Amino acid sequence: MDDLVPPRKADIAYETEQPVRYETDGPVAWIVMDRPKYNNAQNSQMTYALDDAFQRAVNDDGIKVIVLAGEGKHFSAGHDIGTPGRDVAKSFERRLLWADHINKPAAEMLYTREQEVYLGMCRRWRDAPKPTIAAVQGACVAGGLMLAWVCDLIVASEDAFFQDPVVRMGIPGVEYFAHAFELPPRIAKEFLLLGERMTAQRAEQFGMVNRIVTRETLKEEVQAMALKLAAQPRLGLWLTKQAVNHVEELRGKRTAMDAQYHMHHFAHAQGDLTTGNPLGGQDAKSMVAANKKQAGES
Ligand code: ZN
Repeated sequence: MDDLVPPRKADIAYETEQPVRYETDGPVAWIVMDRPKYNNAQNSQMTYALDDAFQRAVNDDGIKVIVLAGEGKHFSAGHDIGTPGRDVAKSFERRLLWADHINKPAAEMLYTREQEVYLGMCRRWRDAPKPTIAAVQGACVAGGLMLAWVCDLIVASEDAFFQDPVVRMGIPGVEYFAHAFELPPRIAKEFLLLGERMTAQRAEQFGMVNRIVTRETLKEEVQAMALKLAAQPRLGLWLTKQAVNHVEELRGKRTAMDAQYHMHHFAHAQGDLTTGNPLGGQDAKSMVAANKKQAGES
């Protein structure tokens, strides 16, 4: 999900040089998104920093378990579609074998960029050889879902909620299309077509969330769970997560995502052609306003 006329590189103003913190607590690596001012909106600066952090945790034999968390009130409001640090027009040293996106014309630009920073990186993190836990509080919206879903386990606080509202942009869900794997198909349709918030309690009913805890105890509960995992044999953990991931592949997860990725980019292109904006005329402000209205907030 990207957008609008990309700001020129010179216009990018990062509020921090470290959008991700890397901390260790015994055998557990805590990878913490740290843009609380912008509800941990993911710009490329953050996705590359996340990739560095996952790489670091995988390289360190002393780390047995990886936790992905967000600083502040919310886990993640999604992809960055409107902060001063929005950096769609910036090149980064790529982690996958794609060409640079910034000099590509029209639809090819976002198609190339999102293969790397969204779909490609999410798949890479999902396949990390160590168990991963998402610690989710507050909003886990659109691009935020992708980060929670790549983790093996999800622990949510009571006030967490999940939402993919991008149909309002004319887009059939975010780039990592796990919706119909995380939820039964009819519920996935409801989730996407209405674009409403799903509470942690309802998400747990469908098995999208493993456990719900209070916000105050989220960190300690996740650490306790991580320590239990850390006591298991390393290779056994890796093989076990791979076995379940393989079942998902046999059910068609990868090919389903590839198919949806192309629909997603057809929708970006259609938005651009009809409204001059790949987000179908929406921006961060209009999406926040519509979401608040839908949720009955003023
Ligand atoms: Zn997109």
